[in-house]
Amino acid sequence: MRFKLVFILLTAITLVNCKNEVKKVEEETPKPVAAVFELPVAPEGVIHKFAPLPYSYDALEPYIDAKTMEIHYSKHHVGYYTKFLDAIKGTELEKTPMIEIFKNISSQSDAVKNTAGGYWNHEFFWNVMVPGGAKEPTGNLLEAINKNFGSFEDFKKQFSEAGAKRFGSGWAWLVVDKEGNLFVNSTANQDNPIMNSETKQGIPVLTIDVWEHAYYLKYQNKRTDYLDAFWNVVNWDIVAKNYNKAITK
Ligand code: MN
Repeated sequence: MRFKLVFILLTAITLVNCKNEVKKVEEETPKPVAAVFELPVAPEGVIHKFAPLPYSYDALEPYIDAKTMEIHYSKHHVGYYTKFLDAIKGTELEKTPMIEIFKNISSQSDAVKNTAGGYWNHEFFWNVMVPGGAKEPTGNLLEAINKNFGSFEDFKKQFSEAGAKRFGSGWAWLVVDKEGNLFVNSTANQDNPIMNSETKQGIPVLTIDVWEHAYYLKYQNKRTDYLDAFWNVVNWDIVAKNYNKAITK
């Protein structure tokens, strides 16, 4: 009887250990997003594609949590994209580059404006973030930030304030204007600084989504905590590339 009990106990301990081993291996191997989620595919002849997320859902932890990334990308972003395809179905916009659509957005319906912005802004946003990137810009981007804002700290303050003060839903941006100078602003809803409906237009180089869906699960109503955390995941290499492209246009 006692032997039987010991045997059962040993078997149980072995099984629990095995289970833990399997779990550990799964945790150490982040699944590529494509493996867990089927990306929407553009219909034939439509030039607007849906890009894979450039990192796994948990890559930006603890600053942006995996659950928020998953819902934000696979539900919200996908939703904007599929609704955008519906809104432009059978029109010349299926073959019009997004930048051209934005430059003439005031001649489009609200459905096109909101879904085009929602589709493009999110893809732009994913790309200006990276896990473990540099903590601050360098080179001519840093020089331009110092020239236009006084210092990197002053720029961060202005950018965060733009995001914090945006009433309701929207985005904060770092933008290059026609003269090649940097400025910070925010837009409502899914609008962006390329749209000709904006008073101050330019080419965006950095953005943050300040819709509640971007931070509510982790930060609840504390949008400023989310804005502070954002500086830990900015991809300054990409921002510098965006900046250099914008000033040579
Ligand atoms: Mn969003």
